[in-house]
Amino acid sequence: MKVFAAFLMTCALLPAFADTVPTEHVVVLPNAQLATRPSPPPGFIPPPLNPKGIRLETRQLSDGVYALMSNTPFADNAGFIVGESAVLVIDSHFNGEMGQQIIDAVRAVSDLPIRYLLNTNAFGDHVFGNHVFPDDTLIVAHQSTIDSLSISTVEGIAQTMRGTVNGDLSVFSGVKLRLPDVGFDTVWSVDLGGRIVEMHWFGGGMSPHDSVVYLPKEKIAWTANLIFGAGTIPWARSGGVADYRATLSKLADTISPNTIVSGHGEITSGDAIGRYLSYLDEILEQARQAALNDTTVEDFVDTAIIDPKYAIEPALKPLMTGFHRWNLQAAYQETR
Ligand SMILES: [Zn+2]
Repeated sequence: MKVFAAFLMTCALLPAFADTVPTEHVVVLPNAQLATRPSPPPGFIPPPLNPKGIRLETRQLSDGVYALMSNTPFADNAGFIVGESAVLVIDSHFNGEMGQQIIDAVRAVSDLPIRYLLNTNAFGDHVFGNHVFPDDTLIVAHQSTIDSLSISTVEGIAQTMRGTVNGDLSVFSGVKLRLPDVGFDTVWSVDLGGRIVEMHWFGGGMSPHDSVVYLPKEKIAWTANLIFGAGTIPWARSGGVADYRATLSKLADTISPNTIVSGHGEITSGDAIGRYLSYLDEILEQARQAALNDTTVEDFVDTAIIDPKYAIEPALKPLMTGFHRWNLQAAYQETR
């Protein structure tokens, strides 16, 4: 546990990388072995996140509960909850323009003050709209998100996100880094007046910072990058496939959402948790077998395809194939 904490600390001290191809660097793995982060496998493409032309569609999921869904297959989604006394927003999206789009969507259904804004991770596409929210909006995030953002700059994050926006760095113009005000450890919750909202951190997954927003009464969760939308598989971007599995297992033991609004992709059901768990189990087992058979990592990864039972959303096939190969590579290296 101590070693795992050290791993998280290390990750927290790394700059806030974006959803993009990482540069080669050394990370401390939970098993305390030094390892070099793998280069992207063949066929890997960065997630397409360019916010230009993105419209967020408001979808009411329950009384006072709204998802904000991007009109392209993988650009960021967000959401907001309206209680009797206040509004809470989940993620501020890519830049000031997108943040303002969220505020306008809230204003179309409520005049109540936006008291809370939750940041689900430290990636620019989830936090770069923070600065357009009112000064008295309290921004809440997992402490590791805050630690990571504290040592980052907009320019640095923009550079690492270059691949996700087709090199068009103009999408970052005007962005000011506004840090969250409140950091939590494992759980934070608030009563908005007749509506309880929880925010959980179950451990590292896609990144070390992934937090999950949950409405216990409505059984709706915002899972950000930890569980993507319908017809997807996970992306163990930070490595740690076994840790990712442990995090999802803890999630499954703690909350039981019927509906999942992901940070990217279409709304899905709580069944996605089980699908993600079995996917991670399978690739860990396949990696063990490959290592036992002395299959090289290249042979294991280069032409791998996703089992059709995962019913990948057709528009996301190339992206998910890249994620799959990335995951296999990470799982293989964990077995060494
Ligand atoms: Zn994301």
